[in-house]
Amino acid sequence: MKVLIFGSGGREHALAWAVKRSNRVTEVVCAPGNGGIAQVARCVPVDLKDLDAMVSLAVAEQPGLTIVGPELPLSLGIVDVLQRRGLRVFGPTRAAAMLESSKSFAKRFLQRHNIPTAKYVVCTTVAELEEAVEKFSTPIVIKADGLAAGKGVIICPSRQIAIEAGQGIFSGKLLGQPERQVVIEEFLEGDEISFLCLSDGKHVTPLVPAQDHKRIGEGDTGPNTGGMGVYSTDSMLQPAMSEWILRHIAEPTVRGMADEGTPFIGVLYCGLIMTARGPEVLEFNARFGDPETQAILMRLESDLVDALEACVDGTLDQTKMRWAPGAAACVVASSAGYPGSYKTGIPITGLTAAARIPTVEVFHSGSAAAGGQLLTSGGRVLGVTAAGSTLEEALARAYQAMAEIHFEGMYFRHDIGHRALRRRS
Ligand code: AMP
Repeated sequence: MKVLIFGSGGREHALAWAVKRSNRVTEVVCAPGNGGIAQVARCVPVDLKDLDAMVSLAVAEQPGLTIVGPELPLSLGIVDVLQRRGLRVFGPTRAAAMLESSKSFAKRFLQRHNIPTAKYVVCTTVAELEEAVEKFSTPIVIKADGLAAGKGVIICPSRQIAIEAGQGIFSGKLLGQPERQVVIEEFLEGDEISFLCLSDGKHVTPLVPAQDHKRIGEGDTGPNTGGMGVYSTDSMLQPAMSEWILRHIAEPTVRGMADEGTPFIGVLYCGLIMTARGPEVLEFNARFGDPETQAILMRLESDLVDALEACVDGTLDQTKMRWAPGAAACVVASSAGYPGSYKTGIPITGLTAAARIPTVEVFHSGSAAAGGQLLTSGGRVLGVTAAGSTLEEALARAYQAMAEIHFEGMYFRHDIGHRALRRRS
């Protein structure tokens, strides 16, 4: 079977790597892919903002299964169009992807279905915003309604700053384009957990949990990024807690979407915060996370394609996923200056030596092949990922591999997994 993957980052590299291990897969095509993905898949250029171009490509390739990586094509409705063209595609329809593409939709949905989440108000004018902030104690969380590539959430220490942030979102000053809705949210405190599940529209199967490190600086300081590292262990979520989250968050979400006529098929990524009153939903994503996917798929022992096909076929309840016990960790190497501006086109060395370290896979987020070498092409460049029987072992291997790799200005955090390691010591 031929599998087509849309996307160009580390998540898609990990997906291509995992898909390729299936003995039912004969060819992996990735559009547009990147320099690292080209080592495991045939890469075909495409603009991920251009729905028609993506559809033409899929129709021409006639894959047995299409996997959509990033949120933008999902929010454009690529799944709806490909289904109408008779293709088998893993991912939510445009209506179901609104759990991610509209925060106001997600919040109202959570409230309708009594799923725990922070208190909120949706505002459509500055006047509404000014009135509503009075009902919240500081700090106040201000969120843009739509997709904002991780830049749409502002934690505001005062009401005045919250109003200014909301104004900036409405006017377009903050995100480059104006937003019609702003969500004000109660600030919650606790550990964050990424709880990803597969869903076939009726049934839910959780993947192993993960914890992301969003900030650029060590000790979780500095601006937010797409994610500087992630780890996954069995002990980060006790079985009873995992079961609770499944019963009270993931399953009611999938049931609610089905009841409302927009069944959710794909990856339901529940971004949770473990508050004193229990787990609450911070956000939903309608896709695999990046870099969570890199660490999670390192632990997958069963066939990914079987599980994704079961979602498309509505038979997820008959499919069992098997996971390696222990841990996996992914440390991201980024370009100097990221998440601000950065240079690209810098040669990357040491990848072969890094790949020789047992259990290590280097997933490329932003690399391009040119003249027989790999060059940096993005802010996040590599996700150096390793598995181990303990988190310490997985991290040691990832950092050992990282020490082999070099590109000018390369930056990475040395403290991935620090919260888990501190809890244990
Ligand atoms: P989101 O895109 O909604 O997940 O928000 C991005 C990040 O902002 C989260 O990972 C949290 O660290 C933080 N955040 C979002 N909402 C809240 C909240 N209500 N309370 C505290 N932190 C939040």
